[in-house]
Amino acid sequence: MDKLEKNKIYPSTLYLVGTPIGNLSDISERAIKVLSEVDFIAAEDTRNTMKLCSALGIKKELVSYFEHNKKASGERIIARLLAGESCALVTDAGMPAISDPGEDIVRLAAESGVAVTVVPGPCAAVSALALSALSTSRFVFEGFLPMQKSERKKRLSELSREVRTVILYEAPHKLRATLNDLGDALGGERKISLCRELTKLNEEVIRTTLGGAVKLYEEKEPRGEYVLVIEGRADKDESENELNSLSPEEHVAHYEALGMAKMDAIKAAAKDRGISKSEMYKLLI
Ligand code: SAM
Repeated sequence: MDKLEKNKIYPSTLYLVGTPIGNLSDISERAIKVLSEVDFIAAEDTRNTMKLCSALGIKKELVSYFEHNKKASGERIIARLLAGESCALVTDAGMPAISDPGEDIVRLAAESGVAVTVVPGPCAAVSALALSALSTSRFVFEGFLPMQKSERKKRLSELSREVRTVILYEAPHKLRATLNDLGDALGGERKISLCRELTKLNEEVIRTTLGGAVKLYEEKEPRGEYVLVIEGRADKDESENELNSLSPEEHVAHYEALGMAKMDAIKAAAKDRGISKSEMYKLLI
């Protein structure tokens, strides 16, 4: 598409349109143009998008495309695109395809030879990272933590070794449980920035530690939408890395051989590995 006029609406093209994550003024001029000029809009929640369109003075056919109809609806949308229509995909908020069903229709379009282009807009993950005051040079986006117990445990254990800044999404009613699990797996000392209600009236960034966040929300009711940005595990120097290549049992035995009591040896090995004492105990069982 690079030789074409970028602001024209082309047939048989899927436009991924970023929409505000809370502040309507964050809609871009190009997003308004595309939403006004495409043949139809595919929306995660047609009622939400209807509100956005009426605020922008746009009248357009809306079709529903969400988690529970994405297969059938995706196929109908692709058929219309192949027949020459243009479509804008919007999700409830932010960038389509980031932790929402948009991902699947982009894949389907690519497989069907349909052109896909992007009208970039706000994304909660990147906005939170920028505000976090943590390292932005290397980061990983983890979306929502799995709810299924064993998968969640595995993911938390992987995250305990992650040296890059970690970005997570979380719903308010699950925040306390998630902070507790993160504190157990990564240790209470680890820095976290809780970014809530971004771009809205009650926007707030709480920069604390995992232990501090657990304590704070024992007293305070979590409210609004949250992005959690967590500092990566501190990089260890050469000699410590060598110890980390030992098995957990050998690692503890190394410190015991230096004269440490078992509890202190476990604590020291956990510190080397950048994990909490309870996580270290689990590795030893
Ligand atoms: N596609 C969206 C994006 O680009 O950010 C994310 C969709 S995901 C289903 C919704 C999650 O994004 C929420 O549970 C919350 O974690 C985060 N989120 C969305 N809007 C937010 C806001 N204004 N402030 C903080 N977090 C937000």
